[in-house]
Amino acid sequence: MSAAPLPEHVAKFRTEYRRTESGRYYIGWAHFAFTSLGSLSVIGLALSQLSGVRPWEWLMVPASFLLANVAEYFGHRGPMHHRTKGLGLVYRRHTQQHHHFFTDEAMAYESSHDFRMVLFPPVLLLFFLGGIATPIGALFFALGSPNIGWLFVATAMGYFLTYEWLHFCYHLPAEHLLARLPLVARLRSHHQVHHDLRRMGRFNFNITFPICDRLLGTVWKQK
Ligand SMILES: [Zn+2]
Ligand SMILES: [Zn+2]
Repeated sequence: MSAAPLPEHVAKFRTEYRRTESGRYYIGWAHFAFTSLGSLSVIGLALSQLSGVRPWEWLMVPASFLLANVAEYFGHRGPMHHRTKGLGLVYRRHTQQHHHFFTDEAMAYESSHDFRMVLFPPVLLLFFLGGIATPIGALFFALGSPNIGWLFVATAMGYFLTYEWLHFCYHLPAEHLLARLPLVARLRSHHQVHHDLRRMGRFNFNITFPICDRLLGTVWKQK
């Protein structure tokens, strides 16, 4: 656990959040397992459907990766930080809860019970899978080829799981082995800047790899 005491406003928010959203039946590691195994099963299923992939079809992997990076950037910069009709829950969970439960001065969770403030709720995994990956994959399947449809599904779910695992590592105690891996540590400090309440609406919107942040000039730089 982080040795530094929590800032008063964060300690107050956490106490209040835990009191009002008791989550008596919530098991953090079961949530983590559902997200991980659910995503890995879909990736495994999609990869098992591939047959005789032609060289050009593999291009679907980098193309889907970049598309996911764009979606992550605009999803975060948009509805996660601006109240949007029909997506109020996303704004509430992210701006009003995640950003007050964790700030740049208090990035670490305290127990597995706090995982619900880090991971997407399981219902959103089903939404990503059923509402986004499946219809777009089906479109590629029908208009392109079955292989590119399955490669899209595998890459999109792989990206989603990378997002969840990396974001989980950013909110581990700073001294944790995984948080100190060189690449994770760099990405973690990118996200830590975004957790500064004065900067969250303007900088560092990519949560995985800051490709769009760089392209669109929203990487925060120390003056
Ligand atoms: Zn975060
Ligand atoms: Zn944010």
